[in-house]
Amino acid sequence: MARLAQTAGLTDIQEEILATVRTFVDKEIIPHAQTLEHGDTYPADIVEGMKEMGLFGLTIPEEYGGLGESLLTYALVVEQIARGWMSVSGVINTHFIVAHMLKQHGTPEQKQKYLPRMATGEVRGSFSMSEPELGSDVAAIRTRAVKGESGYTINGQKMWLTNGGTSNLTAVLVKTDEGAEKPHQNLTTFLVEKPEGYGEVLPGLTIPGKIDKMGYKGVDTTEMVFDGFEIAADQILGGVSGQGFRHMMDGVEVGRVNVAARACGIAIRAFELAIDYAQQRKTFGKAIAEHQAIAFKLAEMATKVEAAHLMMVNAARLKDSGQRNDVEAGMAKLIASEYCAEVTQEAFRIHGGYGYSKEYEIERLMREAPFLLIGEGTSEIQKTIISRGLLREYQSRG
Ligand SMILES: Cc1cc2nc3c(=O)[nH]c(=O)nc-3n(C[C@H](O)[C@H](O)[C@H](O)COP(=O)(O)OP(=O)(O)OC[C@H]3O[C@@H](n4cnc5c(N)ncnc54)[C@H](O)[C@@H]3O)c2cc1C
Repeated sequence: MARLAQTAGLTDIQEEILATVRTFVDKEIIPHAQTLEHGDTYPADIVEGMKEMGLFGLTIPEEYGGLGESLLTYALVVEQIARGWMSVSGVINTHFIVAHMLKQHGTPEQKQKYLPRMATGEVRGSFSMSEPELGSDVAAIRTRAVKGESGYTINGQKMWLTNGGTSNLTAVLVKTDEGAEKPHQNLTTFLVEKPEGYGEVLPGLTIPGKIDKMGYKGVDTTEMVFDGFEIAADQILGGVSGQGFRHMMDGVEVGRVNVAARACGIAIRAFELAIDYAQQRKTFGKAIAEHQAIAFKLAEMATKVEAAHLMMVNAARLKDSGQRNDVEAGMAKLIASEYCAEVTQEAFRIHGGYGYSKEYEIERLMREAPFLLIGEGTSEIQKTIISRGLLREYQSRG
């Protein structure tokens, strides 16, 4: 992409990483994405390639064997990967969130135990808040951990775990009995180590099969069932119970930048496909790009791509500067995902009947874009977060 979605002020290292990833996406992801996606096939070779490039350790500090890069670098890498195939970005995203939570909130022993092996991709992270009866309303979590003499026993059911079957470390948010008045203060994150795979993977812990999804195929999304699962107290993230909600919200805040980046990547690809097709397809004696109605569509699509990219970069830079970015990450996620849905839809229309054919990439993007309106908090939830933040900031003196 020559002109759109450029980022000013990147370091040489960031430029180098992005150039390497862009080449990898063009050579190793885009040519295989359609076949793998239609077959719902896990992209094992692509994942190995990402391990070799060190992408699993991109944001893990150098002292733990990672590359120690920023959220911005990560987000720009994700944008490139999603331009190739969103499912591949899904493989690293939950891993990245768990690594972030460990880095920020883990005990020294937990960091030492997991981060070096996460940096190589040997340990692969997933995270679980949602349950069959709740997603937006996190504080209503029902899965419960009860303290016994030698640790905790967990019972309950989790839903929608991205990488649930292909990860071996899941950060799980559950209810504990802290006696706090506010429900969110009674939540604790446990670090559940488990083998990869499906079925009863450990006594009292079952990962049923993959959920069959409309898009976002290849990457597995599963349930997770606890039935008397026993876990040691030192597997509580940060060592102290009752802090889980705060830990997870910090995780999803970076996750929201990542979802915005994915949306940018898909929108960029939809635009690339549309502008190419519009110059090739002829109607009424000229390329459709020469009809003003289509040219204006392209102009609007490109403007949306650019606006979303800039807001995503802004939210990432804010978090990297050490500030809270709840409002900005919410805004970036909201606009990028809504624009992505619109740009993809327009690219689909520009393709005419061919957009409906499975031979054309736009058909896949059309099924991927809607997920971004939901994952890491729906648009309604982003608006709730944004408006709350603004009302705090702009308190009326009247
Ligand atoms: C493919 C996929 C992968 C996922 N991966 C993960 C994962 O790895 N880990 C994980 O924990 N979760 C994951 N999720 C779950 C996801 O985060 C939730 O689906 C999402 O947060 C929405 O929750 P819900 O589905 O329960 O919808 P609900 O919360 O039931 O919402 C339903 C509708 O009501 C609206 N709504 C809800 N509350 C309000 C309100 N207060 N005001 C206005 N409108 C409201 C919502 O915007 C939505 O339109 C995944 C979901 C999918 C589809």
